[in-house]
Amino acid sequence: MQQVTYLRASTTAEAIAAFRRAGSGARYIAGGTTLYDLMKLGVERPVHLIDVSAIESADRIDTSGDRLFFGAGALMADVAENAVVRRDYPVLSESLWKAASQQLRNMATVGGNLLQRTRCPYFRNGAGGIYPCNKREPGSGCAAIGGIDRGQAVLGTSEACTAVSPGDWPVALTALDASVELNGSGGARSVPIADFYLLPGSTPEREFAILPDEIITGISVPRTAAGRHSTYHKIRDRESYAFALVSAAVALELDRGRITKAHVALGGVGTRPWRARRTEALLEGSEPMRDIALTAARAAFAEAKPGAQNRFKIELGARAIADAVVIAAEGNG
Ligand SMILES: Cc1cc2nc3c(=O)[nH]c(=O)nc-3n(C[C@H](O)[C@H](O)[C@H](O)COP(=O)(O)OP(=O)(O)OC[C@H]3O[C@@H](n4cnc5c(N)ncnc54)[C@H](O)[C@@H]3O)c2cc1C
Ligand code: SF4
Repeated sequence: MQQVTYLRASTTAEAIAAFRRAGSGARYIAGGTTLYDLMKLGVERPVHLIDVSAIESADRIDTSGDRLFFGAGALMADVAENAVVRRDYPVLSESLWKAASQQLRNMATVGGNLLQRTRCPYFRNGAGGIYPCNKREPGSGCAAIGGIDRGQAVLGTSEACTAVSPGDWPVALTALDASVELNGSGGARSVPIADFYLLPGSTPEREFAILPDEIITGISVPRTAAGRHSTYHKIRDRESYAFALVSAAVALELDRGRITKAHVALGGVGTRPWRARRTEALLEGSEPMRDIALTAARAAFAEAKPGAQNRFKIELGARAIADAVVIAAEGNG
C-alpha cells in the first residue's frame, strides 16, 4: 500500500481547507469501516486522509424541532438507541440496528453510511484487472451482466451497471423524505435524499450528488406522524450481520383504520434506495390488510428487469412490503 498522509480536523472549515490544500487524492474519513476496507482491497487509493470524526458537535442528535437532525459524525449505534428515535421513528432505529454488527455500529457514522459503496463482488474483488467493472474503471465493461447476478439490482439498472445500493439507513431516510446537509468551498446546501443517489446510466462511477470537497455535516428528517407507525423489514441470507437481499421501509398515517398517507421505500433491489410511489398511491385509502398491501406492493416492480438468478427478488420484495405494512400499522401508539 502507498504512503498516506493523515490529518484530524476539529472544525468543518478546517476539514474543507485541508481537503482543498491536499488536492487530488484527498478523501474524508470518519469511522473508516468502508474506506479502510476498500483501501485494503485496492479499490480505493487515497493519498491524503482528512479525518472528520472529531469535528466539534459533528455527533449532535437533535430531536426537538420541526426536523430531526443527525450530525454526520453521530455513531450508528447512538442513533439506533436514541430513545425518541426508537419510540417515534422505529423505521430509522431498526434500519440502523439491523445493519452490520454492534462492533461496526460503535465505529461507523451515519454520515459515512450514506457514502458506502456497492457490495457487487466484481467491484470489490476485481482490482488488478481480474474482472471488468465500469464503476471501478469507467469503460472497462461489467462482469456482473451475464455473470453471477443473484445479488444484483432489478430496478434502475443500465447496460453499464446493475449494482445494488447497499445501505439500510438510506432506505429508511428515503421513505421519510430526508435531506442531506452539505458544506464545501462553494458554501452550505441541502440536497433532498431523492436527488442524492444517482442512477448508473452510462456513468456508474458517479454515485452521489456531492462535490469532491463537500463534507456531509448532517441529515435532517421532517417530523411526521407516520413515524409512529413505521418499520424497517429486512430479509437476508442469515439472521444478522448480512446485507439485505430485499428490504422495505414503511411508514403510515392512519385514520379510523385506513391508510391516509403511505411512505414506502425498498432496499436490496435498486441501484439506489428505491421509493415505491405507485405502491404508496395504491395503499392510500385502503385498510392495512396483507392481501391488499401485496397487490399494491407488486406495482413497485412493474418495471423490474431481472437477470438470470435474481428474479426471486421481485416476489420477495413485494412480500417484504406487504409484511412491513401490517407490522407498521400495529405501530407504537
Ligand atoms: C462487514 C460489514 C458489514 C456491513 N453490513 C452492513 C449492513 O448490513 N447494512 C448497512 O447499511 N451497512 C453495512 N455495512 C457498512 C457500514 O454501515 C458502513 O461501512 C459505515 O456506515 C460507514 O461509516 P464510516 O463512518 O465507517 O465511513 P467511512 O468508512 O469513514 O467513510 C465512508 C465514505 O464516506 C466518506 N465520508 C465519511 N464521512 C464523511 C463526511 N462527513 N462527509 C463527506 N464524506 C464522508 C468517506 O470518504 C468514504 O468515502 C457493513 C460494513 C462491514 C465492514
Ligand atoms: S454491476 Fe456495476 S459495480 Fe458490478 S461489475 Fe458491473 S459495473 Fe461494476
